[in-house]
Amino acid sequence: MAHTGSRKKARQRSRHSSARTPKYVYAFANGKAEGSSALRNLLGGKGCELAEMTKLGVPVPPGFTITTEAWAAYNAAGKKHPPGLWSQVTAGLAGLEAAAGTRLGDPARPLLVSVRSGARASMPGMMDTVLNLGLNDRTVEGLAQRTKNERFAWDCYRRFITLFGDVVLAIDRRAFDVRLDAAKARAGVKTDADLPAGALRELVTEFKSVVQSQTGRPFPQDPLEQLRLAIDAVFDSWWAKKAVDYRRIHRLPEDWGTAVTVMAMVFGNVGPTSGTGVCFSRDPASGERRFFGEFLVNAQGEDVVAGIRTPEPIDALKTRMPAVYRKLTAIKDRLEAHYRDMQDIEFTVQEGRLYILQTRSGKRTAAAAVRIAVEMSTKERRVDRDTALLRVEPASLHQLLVKTVDPRAKYAAIARGLPATPAAAVGKVVFEPERAVDMALREEKVILVRTETSPEDVAGMHAAQGVLTSRGGLTSHAAVVARGWGKCCVVGAGDVVVDEENHLFRAGRAVVREGQVITLNGATGEVIVGTQPLVDPTFSDEFKTLLGWARDRATTRVRANADTPADATKAREFGAEGIGLVRTEHMFFGEERIPIVREMIMAGDLQARKKAVDQLLPFQREDFIGIFRAMAPHPVTIRLLDPPLHEFLPKYKEVLEEYTRLDARGFNPERHAELGLVKARLEALLEANPMLGHRGCRLGITFPEIYDMQVRAIMEAACEVAGEGLTVEPEIMIPLTGTVAEMKLTREMTDRVARQVISETGKNVRYAVGTMIEVPRAALVADRIAEHAEFFSFGTNDLTQMTYGYSRDDIGKFLPFYLEKKLLPHDPFAVLDQRGVGELMRIGIERGRRTVPGLKVGICGEHGGEPSSVEFCHRIGMTYVSCSPYMVPVAWLAAAQAEIKEGEAQSKAGRQWQGEAQPKASRANMQSRHRRSKSAR
Ligand code: ADP
Ligand code: MG
Ligand code: MG
Repeated sequence: MAHTGSRKKARQRSRHSSARTPKYVYAFANGKAEGSSALRNLLGGKGCELAEMTKLGVPVPPGFTITTEAWAAYNAAGKKHPPGLWSQVTAGLAGLEAAAGTRLGDPARPLLVSVRSGARASMPGMMDTVLNLGLNDRTVEGLAQRTKNERFAWDCYRRFITLFGDVVLAIDRRAFDVRLDAAKARAGVKTDADLPAGALRELVTEFKSVVQSQTGRPFPQDPLEQLRLAIDAVFDSWWAKKAVDYRRIHRLPEDWGTAVTVMAMVFGNVGPTSGTGVCFSRDPASGERRFFGEFLVNAQGEDVVAGIRTPEPIDALKTRMPAVYRKLTAIKDRLEAHYRDMQDIEFTVQEGRLYILQTRSGKRTAAAAVRIAVEMSTKERRVDRDTALLRVEPASLHQLLVKTVDPRAKYAAIARGLPATPAAAVGKVVFEPERAVDMALREEKVILVRTETSPEDVAGMHAAQGVLTSRGGLTSHAAVVARGWGKCCVVGAGDVVVDEENHLFRAGRAVVREGQVITLNGATGEVIVGTQPLVDPTFSDEFKTLLGWARDRATTRVRANADTPADATKAREFGAEGIGLVRTEHMFFGEERIPIVREMIMAGDLQARKKAVDQLLPFQREDFIGIFRAMAPHPVTIRLLDPPLHEFLPKYKEVLEEYTRLDARGFNPERHAELGLVKARLEALLEANPMLGHRGCRLGITFPEIYDMQVRAIMEAACEVAGEGLTVEPEIMIPLTGTVAEMKLTREMTDRVARQVISETGKNVRYAVGTMIEVPRAALVADRIAEHAEFFSFGTNDLTQMTYGYSRDDIGKFLPFYLEKKLLPHDPFAVLDQRGVGELMRIGIERGRRTVPGLKVGICGEHGGEPSSVEFCHRIGMTYVSCSPYMVPVAWLAAAQAEIKEGEAQSKAGRQWQGEAQPKASRANMQSRHRRSKSAR
């Protein structure tokens, strides 16, 4: 008990220290910084890398960063500064003033600062930044005198009022922009860089009166008040609609918050030896190792980002300012080597002096991501394979699987812009982002056409197939955002004149109205009226290399869902190791087949039905032969007939209509009688809840001749292909099993026919009989079902439908509302619900393997190609995932990453447990992993 006292004291001490105000402000100046890359979560990406660069000796203006913890405390307190924050800010400011040698609000030598947002993950343009803060009616004069550049001083002031008005005072930016345009017209100049000092001074007067009239108060003149308001506004910009939308689309947590960086301004708008730009250490579109970027003379940073003027390529800097160019080249190499990744760098040149204002991992197309990852790992040996695999976002691979305009297509383009991403798109023209969202919800393909985009437009951009802008360069908002999504995007098509009011755009002599279809050729930047043919992608060598690495690394294997020999071939090309789902009913819809299928359904008695069923047999057999050939030697899982029969008959409404029409007119009695039969049959088949009705194995059990025929077709095909010397591995899958008795019976039915075929042909083909697990009950009784099933495959579409009780066909009525109100995190039919549906899967696997250790388990629902769902499937020990052929590379990469991440987590846990037994979960996981790799290969 002697220790009690000292322990108590220690506890008190720690309580005391946690009550002390945390460090909210981290300074960086003159080669020294309190932060570093390691503090990304606390300082945000922008803030931590400014600190890191400062330490590296890169020329960064001095400043300080307010932490995301301060943001959290501010929000927790109901948007009030936590105690100690403001005094730390003013102390930081004093340090900054000392480093800069000027003071905020000093009428003779005013310090101007920028107040910048920055989250831990880059959210380009989604939050706000204020530039030139510290200007007022007095300091503007001081700045003009000191720099002997009146035009510059007033240009800064009008920019400051605009940004401050927009960001802090919530005044619609257009109120300022229309006055700026008017001033340009009055002065007879084209760009704002040409406005003379007098015009800018007048503009400031106008802007101030806008502020007065819109807020009822004069523009705040006290720089400290400006600073405080700006910091709060940047804090609050985390909750701006565009930022919230962006986080939802990118699934970023709401509670990260933003840091705020306050730093000394440097000026790119002083004159012709100044300017601003953005550059990438490699080409962000192709990944090629070449310097890439854009530059604007006599401008401030946001001009480039917002696409207000179309910038010049970086080579222009080489000719204009060779020394700056050389220095910039050296810095970008240095930064790339330091971060071991492609960098996106903001820079500003003030009268020949170069400053770096931001660096981050550059957004890139998937093609570039793959090329950079592979080249950095092979040729350059800068990163290992696992790092390379983790560098590519699985979902982004969609982009490489995108279609492009057929190179043989002949057309005349009406306009040409800059190709921001390689994808092509065809769709109806719309001008308003909201309309794009609406139309996309109705499954229409649209192309959003805008003069330029802004962060408010992201939802519309996301909904559209492609985006076309008439202004802005390859680093404009539209280009950056679209590139991140791999969405088709053509920017800066100068010939395109958007007339939003009249719902049309002009390009030369062409007029294109809203609703008209256009094609965007993402490879060339061309805009074409009408629909052009699109073609499938081809894979680069780097892509194949990366895919090979992923396949080597993944323990969860990848198959494809394919219904035809053509799909199977495609799946093979895309790297599938077998087929996880052949939907036999899709084979029934063929032109020659559907009449036979209908005959089968209409049959009055068993004999008639059997006759029709037998006619279907050769068709099915042919299909299976093609699929087995395409997939040999990999397994092919074939699901027996699943949908309710009425799906194969004409629509009841149409039948009824024609029937009543004929009824009324009294002619064509033959057709009338025929329709009468169909109508009666449809009425007999009518169900209140067809998805919960007579379908799946219930159908096969009540009409055994159908399943018998299918099993026979499968086995005859398998025997034939085996006879050709190929390896076949048919897996016959029973849909919608819910009870053990169903499984037992269908298994016996299947075995009986299969054995018969084997004895007829004399070919001893190995086959397996298993079941879909898609009725929740099946997951719960999986231990018993596994007594009769040789494999499981989770049908997560039906399983999701039945677990939630959401009809997949009707969810559209409430899903958008649920998503908006955050009642659901995402569409559960697109992203697997791990907590609920996933728990059933986990139970199903555990119980199934209790009976049959190492039971082969897969997933064949839509989720099999969605990266977070694939990762989950890996964690619960699934043998393979199966998805659409186009998603196969995505799934491989997601599976490989899941494996790598699990390894990392385990070694971390191992370190933490320091020699003690490893946590149970991970051990169990390792065991199942071991089994899995054996059974999968
Ligand atoms: P975003 O996250 O939208 O890019 P930033 O905070 O990076 O916002 O700033 C917007 C623009 O203003 C960028 O081009 C940036 O380089 C520029 N900028 C920010 N701070 C300064 C500064 N202190 N001096 C000069 N330009 C700046
Ligand atoms: Mg920036
Ligand atoms: Mg199903």
